[in-house]
Order: sequence, then structure tokens, then C-alpha cells
Amino acid sequence: MTYDPSPFGGKLRTVPYAGAVFGADYPVGLGGLGGSPDGPLNEVHVFWIAGMSCDGCSIAATGATNPSVEDLLLGRVPNLPKVILHHPVLNPGAGTELTRPMKKAVEGNLGAPYVVVLEGSVPDDQAFPTELGYFSAMGAGGFDPDSETDQPNRVTDWLWKLAPGAAAYVAIGTCATWGGIPAAAGNITGSMSLTDFLGKDYRSALGVPVVNVPGCSPVGDNFTETVAAVLLFLQNLAPLPKFDELGRPAWLFEETVHRHCPKAGYYEEGVFAEQEGDNECLVEIGCWGPVVQCNIVERGAINGMGGCMVAGGACIGCTMPGFPDKYSPFYKAPPGSFISGGLTKINGGAIRRLRRMSMKSGNREALWDSVGEVPSGWADDKGKPSAFDKTNAFFYKKLQYRGSVHQGKRNKKQPLPASRDILRQKGIDHNQGTDVLGDRVRTR
Ligand code: SF4
Ligand code: SF4
Repeated sequence: MTYDPSPFGGKLRTVPYAGAVFGADYPVGLGGLGGSPDGPLNEVHVFWIAGMSCDGCSIAATGATNPSVEDLLLGRVPNLPKVILHHPVLNPGAGTELTRPMKKAVEGNLGAPYVVVLEGSVPDDQAFPTELGYFSAMGAGGFDPDSETDQPNRVTDWLWKLAPGAAAYVAIGTCATWGGIPAAAGNITGSMSLTDFLGKDYRSALGVPVVNVPGCSPVGDNFTETVAAVLLFLQNLAPLPKFDELGRPAWLFEETVHRHCPKAGYYEEGVFAEQEGDNECLVEIGCWGPVVQCNIVERGAINGMGGCMVAGGACIGCTMPGFPDKYSPFYKAPPGSFISGGLTKINGGAIRRLRRMSMKSGNREALWDSVGEVPSGWADDKGKPSAFDKTNAFFYKKLQYRGSVHQGKRNKKQPLPASRDILRQKGIDHNQGTDVLGDRVRTR
């Protein structure tokens, strides 16, 4: 099931004076967002808020290449507005300089649209008896311009106050999307996801529910590509991209990681790793890939390279809402794998053996079949077909060439290449190695 944007006709929700949503002094332009009458908006602010986070999502995002964060910041992607990023680590300015535009946005005086990105989960510090208690904060001094407090501003307060005017809210990483590790059993922070915090009825100023790009850490390209897709929508240049029922970009998260895993062939043939470092399928040492929605093996971790199984690591389900508790203990075979893996061992084991026979046949030139020898100096065992192989090949080819030309029979009628024929006429054993032109036989 995918999120249906039809309540908005696949376009922006109609806002009579969309610019007012952001405090922008523009009439509704071609961008539909309150962009200038000459065309879509040129700039959009992105406020990056860090909750209960390890900064891994920031690192992942800065590793993105398609598009890269630099592409977004420099306005290098055609038709996308230039992104003005306010990030607690990457921003050149800190303190008040970082939070001033955020406060303007809260007051409705930013003069431009903004998107909020949350990294890290949302702690339950709103439940503290006073606002002096907090688990994570950004900046200080309260939100009231006349405030004289020097207390840190709670992240939860930022999230509430920025929510009504945000063009879109994007949760990056599993902590922000589903609570993640800070929300695991035993935590004392009451951590939760952004969706849990804002509630299911939350819609951004433009009618978009929370967008979730999970992963611990996520694939950076998944994030930047999703942001780019949402920005194109906000520019009124593209329909709202397809999201699934949990707000994940459907085109990135609808498949299981198992389906595209480089080890899927091992699984299918029932060959499993026994310990880390083995090349085979990792399901018996704790891989949950068959039931986990993730695209890391197709997309790569950074710049198209790496990714869990590509690097030999088992999937621990880090993109999933049930992570980590429903996938622990890590590196222990999932219970279901005893059935699926056991059946695959029987079925795949038989299939694998049949394939080896076909492979053995395919590893021989048709000429070698005709003369009954393989002129390779690389091994003593030239893989001569046994009587069983020959019988099997006979019936296999019957099926293979049914209704078509039997290439095997044509090969048999083919004359030997001249050099081999000369040797045969001279009674020379071809396998001893021969300089045909010089008509000299090398003895070994
Ligand atoms: S390693 Fe995991 S994802 Fe890959 S084939 Fe095996 S079970 Fe599937
Ligand atoms: S393969 Fe599994 S552990 Fe690796 S990123 Fe995807 S969901 Fe996370």
C-alpha cells in the first residue's frame, strides 16, 4: 500500500497565499509555493535538528554523491532551489548565529520556505515537570525575544514550534524514523520517533506527512535523493513521490535486501556460511535480509560501493521499525531460517548438483567433446565425461534442442581443425604438446 496524495490532487495543497505560510512577502508564483512570479523558488532553508543522535546520519549524508550535499548547497541540480543548510556541525557559525534563522522561522519571519530534517530520536523530556529539564537541546535563551533565560532550548520545543510552518519534515536515520537504539528496551529517556512525537495527523504546511528515510546509518544517497524529490514536488515541478504506508520512499524501500544480495545465489543453492568471513549466505550466522526492506546492496553505502553483505556483514535489520529489539540478539540465526534454510538445503542442494553437471559440460569446447580430450596443460584431470555424464548430456541436449537445430549433432559432423587433423594423420599424441609448424614434437 502506498500513500495516496490524491486529497491534494497529486499537487500542492491549495494555499491562497502560500507565501504567507512562510512569512514570505511573495504572491503565489509558478512555484505554487509563494515563489516569485518569474518562476519557482530559488532558495529553501533546511534546518537540521539533532535529537538523541550519534551524528552518524550527518556523516552518511555528507558521503552522498547522487546528488551530493554540495550539489544541493550550490544549486547544481537543475530546477531545484538552492539549499541553505543550517546544521549544528557543518554550519560555519555556531550558537546564536546558528539558531537565529530558526527562531525567525518559528516567529514566521524567515521570509522563505523551510524544510526540517531531524537526526536522532525524540526524547520524552516534555514530560519533565519544568522546561528546565531536557535530554537534548540546541541553542539557548528561550523562544521569546524578551526572554532573559540562558537555559538550553530543548530539541522537543524546536520540533513543536517549527512544525506548523515547515514545508516538509524529513526524519533521517532509524532513530528519527522509528526511535532506533535510544528507544530500545531499557532506555530511560522515553525516546520515540518523529512520527510518534508529532502524531499521525501531522501534515506540513504543504500537506506532507513526515517523510522517513531509515537506516543506521542510512544510505546518504537515499536521503539526498528523497530531499531532491520532495523539493521538486514543492517546486510544483513533479508530483509527490510515492511513499509507502510508513512514509518511506517506496521506490527505495519496497524490496527486501535479500532479493538483491550478492549472496542470494548461495542461499538459493542452500550453501551457508558457518562463520564470519565465509563467502556464502550469512543466514545461519544471523542475517535477517529475507525479511528486511533495504536497498544498500544495490545502491552501495558510499559512492556506489560497500554495503553490508557486499562487505561480508549479516543484515541486522537496521532500517526496520522493529530495530533493534526485534532483531536481537544480533548474529544469531533468525528462527524462521531453520525452516526456510532447511528446505533450501534440500531443494537447493539437488539443484546445485544438477547445475554442476551442466557447468561441467559447458566448460568443454564442442571440439573437445568430438575428439574426447581436453588439451590443457593446467591440470592432470581434464574432466573427461563419465558414462553418467554422457547419458545425462544426451537427454539434456534432447530437451535443450527440441524444436530447434541440434548443435551437438552439427558439431560432430564438423571436420577437425587442420592442425589437429595433421597431428592425427602423423600419429602424434596431441596431448604431448606440439610445434605444428616446425613439425617438431616436444617431449616433456
Ligand atoms: S546473506 Fe542475508 S540477504 Fe544475503 S542471501 Fe543470505 S540471507 Fe539473504
Ligand atoms: S542490510 Fe540490514 S543491516 Fe545493512 S543497512 Fe540494510 S537493513 Fe541495515
